[in-house]
Amino acid sequence: MRIDLHTHSNASDGTETPAELIAAAAAEEVDVLALTDHDTTAGWAPAAAALPSGMRLVPGAEFSCESETGRGGHCTVHLLGYLFDPAADSVVNEQRRLRAERRVRVHRMASRMRDDGLPVDPDALLEGLADDVPAGRPHLARALMDAGVVTSVDEAFRFFLASGGRYHVHKNDTPVRDAIAMVRAAGGVTVLAHAFAASRGPIINSAVITELAAAGLDGLEVDHPDHDATTRDELRRLAKDLDLLPTGSSDYHGDNKVNRLAQDTTDPQVFDELMRRASGSPVITG
Ligand code: AMP
Ligand code: ZN
Ligand code: FE
Ligand code: FE
Repeated sequence: MRIDLHTHSNASDGTETPAELIAAAAAEEVDVLALTDHDTTAGWAPAAAALPSGMRLVPGAEFSCESETGRGGHCTVHLLGYLFDPAADSVVNEQRRLRAERRVRVHRMASRMRDDGLPVDPDALLEGLADDVPAGRPHLARALMDAGVVTSVDEAFRFFLASGGRYHVHKNDTPVRDAIAMVRAAGGVTVLAHAFAASRGPIINSAVITELAAAGLDGLEVDHPDHDATTRDELRRLAKDLDLLPTGSSDYHGDNKVNRLAQDTTDPQVFDELMRRASGSPVITG
C-alpha cells in the first residue's frame, strides 16, 4: 500500500493539472493520494473526476501559517489539513484572504526585481495566473527561468527568493493555532508539515509543537524529503511522546521540485487513524 499525503497541482504551485497529477500517481502505483495545494481547494473536483478505479483521493490543503519559534522570534509553518468541509465560511474566507495577500506579495517581489533591472514584468506575471491560483515564489522562479536569469527553480530560490533575501516580501499568514481550530471546526484533521526543515529559514521548536498538540494538532510529518535521518528520528520520538500521528509524504510539485511521488509514504495504520478522526469531507474512491 503506497500512501502519499502531501502533493501539489497547478491549482497552486505544482506544474501538473490535478488530472495529470492523478495520472502520474496512478503510474507510480500510489494507492492513496492527498491533494494539498497551498491555500485552495480548487483542485479537489478535477482531481476527483480523474480518479482511476481503486485509487483513493484524500482532499486537503496546505495552510500558510505563522508561529513563534520557541526561541524568540517567529517563523513560517505549514499546516496540512485533510477532509475538512471546503464550504466552511472560516476556511473559505481565510483562504481567499491569503490568496489576495499572495498576489500583492508576489507583485511586490517582482517589482523589486524589475526595479533592479531584472527582466521580470510583475503585471504580466500575475495576468498569467488564474485569479484563484495562490501566487507563490515558485511562479516567480519559473518567470526567472523563462527569462534566462537562472537555469533551475532551486537556483532561483538560492539567489533571488530566499526568506531574508533582497527581494523577499513577508506575507501575513494565519496564526497556526487559529488554523488548527479552523480546520477542526470544519470537521478536518491537521498535520504539521516539514516542521524541522531548517534549510527554509527559522523553525519551530519541540516546546511549541507540544503546545500545538495540546491545542488539537493530530499529526506530525516525520518522513519528508527535507528531513535527514537524524531529524526524522528526532521527530518520530517527539510524535510518540506527544501521541501525534507520524506521517510521511513527498511534497511533490511536478517539475517545480526534485521530489518524486511517494518518495516518502505513510503507514496504513496511521492513515486509518487520521481518517477515522475526520468528518468534514469523505475520502473519495475511484
Ligand atoms: P511561498 O508559498 O510563496 O512562500 O513559496 C514557498 C513554496 O516554495 C513552497 O511550496 C516550497 O515548497 C517551495 N520551495 C521552497 N524552497 C524551494 C526550492 N529551493 N526549490 C523549489 N521549491 C522551493
Ligand atoms: Zn508549494
Ligand atoms: Fe510546505
Ligand atoms: Fe507543500
